[in-house]
Amino acid sequence: MSDPVVIASIYPDLLGTYGDGGNVITLRHRAALRGLPTEVIAVQPGDALPDGADLYVLGGGEDTAQVAACEALQKDGALARAAQRGAPILAICAGYQLLGTFFPDATGSPAPGLELIDLSTSRLPARAVGELVADPTDRPGLLGADRFTGYENHAGGTTLGPGVAPLGRVVAGVGNGDGTEGAVSGHIVGTYLHGPCLVRNPDIADQLLEWATGSPLTPVTEAAVADLRAERFRTVLGG
Ligand code: GLN
Repeated sequence: MSDPVVIASIYPDLLGTYGDGGNVITLRHRAALRGLPTEVIAVQPGDALPDGADLYVLGGGEDTAQVAACEALQKDGALARAAQRGAPILAICAGYQLLGTFFPDATGSPAPGLELIDLSTSRLPARAVGELVADPTDRPGLLGADRFTGYENHAGGTTLGPGVAPLGRVVAGVGNGDGTEGAVSGHIVGTYLHGPCLVRNPDIADQLLEWATGSPLTPVTEAAVADLRAERFRTVLGG
């Protein structure tokens, strides 16, 4: 039996709105489909993050929880070290915003982020709530996802620095707020997609697992997921 893929689930109680915990379940499921064992380390604030995990996962959260999570991560330091060594990181919504330079706190003032990706977040003119569809940008590397689906609920909009590629171009919804959605920088994927993101977009899960294991995975399509995606695209885009 091969060594388990070790997944660090970061502060699931602070950063786990809208079922984002489903991303860890999906990573385990997609790994199991290929016979890969996994081990999940759920890290609570105050506990040290593991330095040697193969994959790190952050979910979304309310503004106050987001600031608390960011401060705890800054103090801990292990996520920065993980980013430094190229470990894959999936970050949803609040988790995504806090990887940048600054993001709005509950009063709307800028709170300092972890500066692991060159991006920053400010308040959108109006809260973005609803389904989000985006098409992949022209970026080699991220497994053949044809289209991304999820839903969003955030007050912040994100501006990417010059060296950071968006995950996609918005087809429906708001995403980053400028027509782009999410960000990819090295092995870090940040996105506004809830859903949970990896349930609706298993290609992203597979890409993270490939980065984590360093080996290509056999493609697997699950009918229930294909049906869910098709239903969401029909409902949001018509046709
Ligand atoms: N607090 C952030 C915002 O409102 C993120 C919200 C979320 O994670 N859903 O922009």
